[in-house]
Amino acid sequence: MGHHVVILGGSYGGIAAMRRLSRHPEIQVTLIDQHPYHYLQTEGYELISSNTSFDETIVSLPALCANYENVTFKHRTVQAIDPKQKVILLTDGEESYDVLIIAVGSVTKRFDCDENVYHYSSGAKSLRGAVKLQQFFQKELYKRLESEKEANENFNIIIGGAGLSGVEIAAGMQHFFNRYYRSNALSCATLHIHLIASRDTVLNGMHPTIIKTASKRLKKLRVILHTQCRIAALAAHEAILTNDTHIPFDFMIFAGGTTSAPCLENLEVEKNKKGQIIVDAYLRCKTYSHIYVIGDSAALLDKKSKALPPTAQTAIQSGEVAASNIIRSLKHKTLKKADIKIKGLAIALGGKYAAIDLGKIRFSGYTAYLIKKLIERLYKWPLWWLVSKGFRKIEACTI
Ligand SMILES: Cc1cc2nc3c(=O)[nH]c(=O)nc-3n(C[C@H](O)[C@H](O)[C@H](O)COP(=O)(O)OP(=O)(O)OC[C@H]3O[C@@H](n4cnc5c(N)ncnc54)[C@H](O)[C@@H]3O)c2cc1C
Repeated sequence: MGHHVVILGGSYGGIAAMRRLSRHPEIQVTLIDQHPYHYLQTEGYELISSNTSFDETIVSLPALCANYENVTFKHRTVQAIDPKQKVILLTDGEESYDVLIIAVGSVTKRFDCDENVYHYSSGAKSLRGAVKLQQFFQKELYKRLESEKEANENFNIIIGGAGLSGVEIAAGMQHFFNRYYRSNALSCATLHIHLIASRDTVLNGMHPTIIKTASKRLKKLRVILHTQCRIAALAAHEAILTNDTHIPFDFMIFAGGTTSAPCLENLEVEKNKKGQIIVDAYLRCKTYSHIYVIGDSAALLDKKSKALPPTAQTAIQSGEVAASNIIRSLKHKTLKKADIKIKGLAIALGGKYAAIDLGKIRFSGYTAYLIKKLIERLYKWPLWWLVSKGFRKIEACTI
């Protein structure tokens, strides 16, 4: 096995793998991402609900990579992978590799609707989608503040999907609006957030205590929950649900299904229904042992072969396992089987309120919120520190 490792995708999984490989100067690492930043999706709910600005939710990839002598960052979009030739096809040119790590995540499924209607929708998985939604939200609030005519018009947002991200966004936006309404009531009619759950509860599959806490909180905030239905069709400013309910809407957020990143579509390897690549116990693609797949791009399993949900923590753990196995195979050591676990879940529920599930202990409220914030900062702050160090290095080289 050669020493050039290419990592596709510089997010939770790709960065974890890159940082581990960077400790081995004999390995040359190239990190490729279509953006010059790592978007902190786990803080997306704060951005969407106007509680933070976009620069608080990104980490610069060129500055981060500048800290490591053996790491090169390339700001390029991957078009396709040719595993037989061991070549990546980029927008302009190619990149060859000895070992490949695929960490391109997943994308929100596009809802089948007219282009004009699609304009009033966005997904929560990209910075672009989150910023589009935040700007729309802010613009609508401002419009109502300035205009006599608009002041009494209601404002409807539909969120399709009541999993972790849908619930966090609904609670965050509604909380922000409730606070705004209390100080500007005369200039704004009501915001209605409709959360659409295909099952009979929100957060399907999570512990009943967490489901109960989240449902109670959403009700208190006045989020309108529609259960056991899906969005059947979207027309101009109206959504039709499968139970034939018609809801007027100003904006729609897809927080439901995801599918594989477009650059993996033509890669002929075994995939599951969600388009995730099936991996072996060492996180290698079954067809090509020189390709590791991590994070949301992989069909990750726990020790009991149960499918793991796509999360940042599983992406990070899988990135570390893949990097360790690459190092082990270079040293001709036996590979280590992945033992990826969900260590706990922290769910933001609007304002200074969250719910935490640590497996044996579950709690909610302000303490849970503080812990959620601490988890976010313990991830982000060391990266930001590295970014400022890397930036100084880049600056010193250019003077
Ligand atoms: C609103 C929201 C809240 C969430 N909250 C939590 C939470 O509280 N806890 C938790 O653990 N998880 C949470 N998640 C899930 C978590 O964010 C994802 O599971 C995680 O981001 C997956 O990481 P990843 O590295 O696999 O891929 P991603 O983070 O999706 O990153 C993929 C990277 O690949 C790059 N890429 C894609 N295609 C190409 C291409 N063609 N060329 C070049 N680069 C490409 C992208 O630019 C991106 O940088 C949340 C998700 C959302 C949307």
